[in-house]
Amino acid sequence: MMTDVMTKTDAPILRLEGVSKTFNGQNGAVEALQPLSLDVRAGEFVCLLGPSGCGKSTLLNLIAGLERPTTGDVFANGRPVVGPGADRVLMFQDGALFPWLNVRANVEFGLRQTGLPKRERAGAAQRWIDAVHLTGFERSFVHELSGGMRQRVAIARALAIDPAILLMDEPFGALDAMTRDLMHRELESIWQSTRKTVLFVTHNVREAVALGDRVLVFAARPGRIVAEFRIDLPRPRSLEDHALVDQARRITAVLREAGANSNHSAARPGEPG
Ligand code: ADP
Repeated sequence: MMTDVMTKTDAPILRLEGVSKTFNGQNGAVEALQPLSLDVRAGEFVCLLGPSGCGKSTLLNLIAGLERPTTGDVFANGRPVVGPGADRVLMFQDGALFPWLNVRANVEFGLRQTGLPKRERAGAAQRWIDAVHLTGFERSFVHELSGGMRQRVAIARALAIDPAILLMDEPFGALDAMTRDLMHRELESIWQSTRKTVLFVTHNVREAVALGDRVLVFAARPGRIVAEFRIDLPRPRSLEDHALVDQARRITAVLREAGANSNHSAARPGEPG
């Protein structure tokens, strides 16, 4: 007889049930996200792709617990999300580092809240500084670092508190193409060794295909998921790889179509594949 019982490992680490968000602003209600349901399994790398204004950041904020859904529920590890938690860390495009703290202190910052003794904090911070290849820059301040180095500090700070889920909001959007390529490889290798669950927002199609196990394609006005692609290309992936470029082209076509079908067709699908 078939049983319907989920084992622990089958249970999604993240579950969204009918989650929507409407903002009530001065110009009336904005339906930032139509109701959506989504399961993410532990260790999965999911890219949220779409033009700006389609609710990607709103979705990350709901998962981070910084916003409350208008309808529906978010569950992390089976528990309802009612606010921020150390199991979910959000990382932004500008890294949001503290300019008055050096690299080590920035990475240690989150660890202070975990109650880890000072010595262990220093050890954990150093391990992550080494992992993102910033050994030797522990005493540098944010203004002394390049954009790529800043994002490495932000990754180290996020991972030092050992969250199960890493929420990344266009983390490499401000980097030049070569640095971005390097950061993709580093993030992929860190993800493979830590098996974190990653939700990664981008409007860059190739970036999504290079990183994701799955790409969720969003459209705007109202914000919604219009398509989902499973990416089975072998890793590590190269942005120039033919199969990757082909896949990106197919996704770009879907984005264009979705943009054209949005209520106000000002929506743009970002860079072409
Ligand atoms: P994306 O991350 O895809 O660019 P967002 O999630 O930032 O999109 O925004 C989705 C929609 O919700 C946009 O129309 C945006 O203007 C609106 N929005 C986002 N945050 C707020 C807010 N705090 N108040 C009012 N409207 C908001």
